[in-house]
Amino acid sequence: MGIDSIDNNLYSIKSKCFICPFCGYSGELDLMGADRFPVLQKLHVIGAGRRAARCPKCSSTDKERLVYTYLKEVEKIQNRNNISVLHIAPENNLQLWLGSVINNYIPGDAFLQNQKFIGEIRFIDIKKTEFADNQFDYIICNHVLCDIKDVDVALHEIYRILKIGGLAILQVPITKISSTVEYQNVHTKEERELAYGYGYHERIYNNIDYINTLSSVDFMVNVRNISKQYIQNGLNPEEDLYLCKKS
Ligand SMILES: [Zn+2]
Repeated sequence: MGIDSIDNNLYSIKSKCFICPFCGYSGELDLMGADRFPVLQKLHVIGAGRRAARCPKCSSTDKERLVYTYLKEVEKIQNRNNISVLHIAPENNLQLWLGSVINNYIPGDAFLQNQKFIGEIRFIDIKKTEFADNQFDYIICNHVLCDIKDVDVALHEIYRILKIGGLAILQVPITKISSTVEYQNVHTKEERELAYGYGYHERIYNNIDYINTLSSVDFMVNVRNISKQYIQNGLNPEEDLYLCKKS
């Protein structure tokens, strides 16, 4: 498949107006993502699949830049004192920035082997953590819940350790043209690649199903799109933020 034939799946951002908010690179974005699994195109999965999205200088991705842009430009968490942030499966550039502006910042992952992390990472299984009730002002799970089979267990744990008034940013790949895709008989990496377009995913969420899932654990869900407002940051115009408040 040539690049010309997948133009419909590329972002509308023009490379000449992309300026990486992390490293300042200006120019074209690299292609990334899978283009060999038809399910991603067939269900028009937002936040997955082949697209021009990776900064060639610092390797930041569209998904990483979206959360960064929201936290910096909208929440302005860099200006807030004494807040606590938990970041599961941390992306390198976002981790570096959060570590530099947040005193109480904890990056962690349940899979520490065979991954390239920077700095110190704690072992954290988001389904069962050591943290107290109401501990964090922010919890970031950026394309993490899509990998978890018992997603309800993880959501209850996120809700438990989030402060009242705190915010969880819970991004996953989304289809808006199909109901949620999840099969009981899909087990291997190869089967997941064919079914969900990625070897570690457990499902593809429909947007309404996903909001209902988040709301089922009492989150107040605000779906928001800031991508066009900050298009120079190389964001996917179609990717909404799923902002989950504990009230
Ligand atoms: Zn960059």
